[in-house]
Amino acid sequence: MDLVVARPEGLYCPVGDFYIDPWRSVDRAVITHGHSDHAHYGSSHYLAAAPGVRIVRHRLGADIRLDTLEYGATIHHHGVKLSLHPAGHVLGSAQVRLESRGEVWVISGDYKLEHDGTCAAFEHVRCHAFIAESIFGLPIYREAGVYLPPTQYVGSIRPCRLARTADGCGGHWRTARVRHAWAGPPDGALVALKGPGCAGVQHRIWRGRSPGCGAGCIT
Ligand SMILES: [Zn+2]
Repeated sequence: MDLVVARPEGLYCPVGDFYIDPWRSVDRAVITHGHSDHAHYGSSHYLAAAPGVRIVRHRLGADIRLDTLEYGATIHHHGVKLSLHPAGHVLGSAQVRLESRGEVWVISGDYKLEHDGTCAAFEHVRCHAFIAESIFGLPIYREAGVYLPPTQYVGSIRPCRLARTADGCGGHWRTARVRHAWAGPPDGALVALKGPGCAGVQHRIWRGRSPGCGAGCIT
C-alpha cells in the first residue's frame, strides 16, 4: 500500500490520515517548513520541526494548534511511525520520514544538499520511496542558469556593491542590500556575504524596487 498518495488537498498519508504541506484546509497537516508555498493557513492541527517553530507561527499565526518534533524524534500516529530530518533548505526545514509495516517513505519538501551554514545540514535518510521536491530540477532553470551555488553568485555581488560605493551613490560599504534572490536561496547569499571585509549584512529582503536603485542587484 502506498504510504503517500496525491489528493486535491495535497500529499496524503492514508494509513495515518494526515497531509503533508497541504494547500487546502485539512484536519492534520505536517509542515516541512515555513515558506508560503508549503505552510498554508486553515488546518486544524499542525506538526513541524522544532527549530522552525517561530517561522511557522509567524507565517500561520500565534493561535494555530502546533506540535513540534526535534529532528530524529519519533511519534506514532494511527500505525505510522513519523520522524522529521534536516532538509538543509532553511531554518527548521524537514524531510518527513514515514514508516509502516516495514515500508519507509520520505517526503523531502524543499531541500538542499550543499551545507551553507544557515540551518542543519541535509541528512540522508534510507527509504524505499523518496518523494522529492524538484523545482530547480526542471530543464528551464538549468538552461537559464537561475540556480547557482552561493560561491558563484556572491562573487558577482561584491564588485557591484563596491562599484556603487566608489561612484558615491550613497551606499555604506559595510551594508549590502540584496534586491533579488533570483540566483538562489537568500539565506545562503547572506551567509556567504559575511566573509572577510564585510562586517555587516542587513537581513532584509526587499520585495520591490528600492528608491535610487539602478539596474543592479545591490542598492
Ligand atoms: Zn522553501
